[in-house]
Amino acid sequence: MAAKDTSNKTGKTGLIFFPAFDWAISPTHPEREERLLYTRDQIFEEGLMDLPEIEEYKPRLATPKDISRVHFCVPNVEAQVTEAHLIAAGSVLTLADAKEEGAIRNGFALVRPPGHHSMMVVHGNRGFCNINNMAIMVEYFRTRYGHKKIAIVDTDVHHGDGTQDIFWHDPDVLFISFHQDGRTLYPGSGFPNEMGGPQALGRTLNIPLPPGTTDEGIHYVLDNFILPVLKDFKPDLVLNSAGQDNHYTDPLANMRFSANGYARLNEKLAPDLCVLEGGYAIETALPYVNTGIIQAMAGLDYSHVREPDYVPGKFVQSAEMKRDIEATIGQLQEIWDNRDRLVEDALAEHGQFYRRRKRIFYDTDMINEGQEETVRLCDRCHGYMTIASQAQKGYGILNSAFCVSLPRNACTSCREDAREEFEEHKEDSKFNYVYLQDKQKDTYHSYETRTRNQRDY
Ligand SMILES: [Zn+2]
Ligand SMILES: [Zn+2]
Repeated sequence: MAAKDTSNKTGKTGLIFFPAFDWAISPTHPEREERLLYTRDQIFEEGLMDLPEIEEYKPRLATPKDISRVHFCVPNVEAQVTEAHLIAAGSVLTLADAKEEGAIRNGFALVRPPGHHSMMVVHGNRGFCNINNMAIMVEYFRTRYGHKKIAIVDTDVHHGDGTQDIFWHDPDVLFISFHQDGRTLYPGSGFPNEMGGPQALGRTLNIPLPPGTTDEGIHYVLDNFILPVLKDFKPDLVLNSAGQDNHYTDPLANMRFSANGYARLNEKLAPDLCVLEGGYAIETALPYVNTGIIQAMAGLDYSHVREPDYVPGKFVQSAEMKRDIEATIGQLQEIWDNRDRLVEDALAEHGQFYRRRKRIFYDTDMINEGQEETVRLCDRCHGYMTIASQAQKGYGILNSAFCVSLPRNACTSCREDAREEFEEHKEDSKFNYVYLQDKQKDTYHSYETRTRNQRDY
């Protein structure tokens, strides 16, 4: 299906709330349902839900197929998700449809559990995430509505390492993440030299910021780098992984961003859709930040949105911090300006296949995963990819999986070879599970070698 006009038809802002009452890592864990309940109270108190600019939507369930378009869930989708996950992912798809049908101009899915730490292969929960709501929306937009180029801006304080992993080799998805420097915060990644696979160099842009970065620093990054890069890239859609843990009261991080700073960020970025990620200052930040963002999205005055203890000028950026941030942006600007040459050089350097090994740690579930990823550098398509994955928990092997992924524009030769690798590993039983993700046909297959049982979506 060809991309169609998604310009403003009614000007409404769509909202979905899903606090997931029955999902928490533990009762006292910061990732719990109160995260959204205070926000909801504040929004009702402000009378936002009665405004003609705002339209509330009811969530629906995402299907296993929606999830398989992005993830290889080991052993299967059902084992990795609860109903809450399906509703959170389904909520973003509901807003995607409303946007595409022209019923809304923009929208915000205030849902949990969050998703941006979930990678392509899923053995368990990482950083409170099992499945990546944002990535599921991107692949849905492309499959269902034919969009090609999509930009994701991740404004959570933690590096969006899962989203980065999923689109690492995809030159049509621009992923920009700013976050507190990974040397000082989970998940420890997100440096400028992480810039995408050989065919997509410069389409992953990581902006680590020093702890204590203020509104001034973040708006410098936005004005001088993120907005001009988006203008260059010309995406069909701009999507925002809206994490609110850059706030100065957040208990899990050390930044000094204000609710007003977040609202102004949203106004400038003007994302088509926002998906909530983290944010753990349940009473002191979330209600203010969310209210400000919603007002900015709806084109309403947000100047009165202010935390009770905030006065303008509360935080001042040091000269050293300013120099730090400017140097990082200088480095990233060079990557962005030279992206096509970087790709050319990388393709000349690698042979027919590109390989990388990864170690992935699941902090919540204490799983250690080793991956070997191989991508064919094909000159007729984006090339097929395989991931050999082995997960360990404690002393024992938890599961092993061989995953094959075919891109949307797969050429005949990549199709045949990918299919062959899938069949070969079904036979040789080296792995517990074998998967084939065929984005071109929108079909997904998972095979258990022990029972010789195959599921198709
Ligand atoms: Zn976060
Ligand atoms: Zn090919």
